[in-house]
Amino acid sequence: MGEFDLIARYFKRPARRAALGIGDDCALLQPAPGTQLAISCDMLVQGRHFFADVNPRSLGHKALAVNLSDLAACGAKPLAFTLALALPEINEPWLTDFAGGLFELADAHNCELVGGDTTAGPLNICITVFGEVPLVNGRSQALLRSGARAGDDLYVSGTLGDARLALNALQGKLSVPAPILLAARQRLERPSPRVALGQALRGIASAAIDLSDGLMGDLGHILESSQIGATVQVDTLVHSIACYVDSTPAGIQGGIDLSLAQWRTLALAGGDDYELLFTASPSQRAAVAAAAQASQTPVRCVGQIDANPGLRLLDRQGQVLPNQYASFDHFA
Ligand code: ADP
Ligand code: MG
Repeated sequence: MGEFDLIARYFKRPARRAALGIGDDCALLQPAPGTQLAISCDMLVQGRHFFADVNPRSLGHKALAVNLSDLAACGAKPLAFTLALALPEINEPWLTDFAGGLFELADAHNCELVGGDTTAGPLNICITVFGEVPLVNGRSQALLRSGARAGDDLYVSGTLGDARLALNALQGKLSVPAPILLAARQRLERPSPRVALGQALRGIASAAIDLSDGLMGDLGHILESSQIGATVQVDTLVHSIACYVDSTPAGIQGGIDLSLAQWRTLALAGGDDYELLFTASPSQRAAVAAAAQASQTPVRCVGQIDANPGLRLLDRQGQVLPNQYASFDHFA
């Protein structure tokens, strides 16, 4: 099979929303009148972002999920994506599963594959995603990192730390009971981008970012862009799948041998969670709750934005914790 047969067999489908899909030199997209295009690109590299033996269905899912998560963080509605793929060989069962995972998520979000590039090489997947954000009276409704204001509440969707819990278990660094590992591994390998929540927060949230590198680093981006500081009640964050599995006070660690400090590290610096971190004025509390309900996404307030620069971490007694949690950096 050659390059063009491969594209035709696994990736080319009839164009639906695009004016022109796969097959020419460019695809043609027609954003709805009164909208802006939101564009984001993410690359997944074998050995860096996934193991060589990862399930290809999960890989197809995750490659698109991490991109949809960026659209979610901007409050954008998914429209289309391109796929640049380097493959070491043509492995048909692998391609069937990869394309299956990719299109399953794409169809769930009505996001259409409109083009890409295919080459031989070490396994590498690069997706560029396009979304729509409305303009109201000429003003973009996109959620940005720069809009947080002193006095805003700080919120996180879902739970944090489960992806890192699974990674640590798969690397043999810690032992996790099978049902918890199954659930945590789902979070690592098949994250659910918070696309509906992101759109529901337009006009409500003052700033937003998706949590890909860990809360410490990603909140740092909001603080830097918005030129403000924050206080985080750390123990409101320590709510992983393991805590839900066994939420009696004595068994809060779900049968996993981790100290509270280690749970805090998972939640603060874990990465790969693809939850949304956002800020909103206290006057928007009811609207935030309504957005969470409408998008069927749990959301919790975990701190406040303040004028005082820097980041303060408080435990449940209100004591200041040392700030020792580094987030992920490819070149650190
Ligand atoms: P060109 O050489 O003009 O850039 P290609 O020959 O690489 O185009 O690709 C032919 C068509 O197939 C183009 O429309 C391109 O967007 C599409 N395409 C190539 N690889 C992929 C892929 N992995 N997924 C989806 N579409 C692809
Ligand atoms: Mg060309």
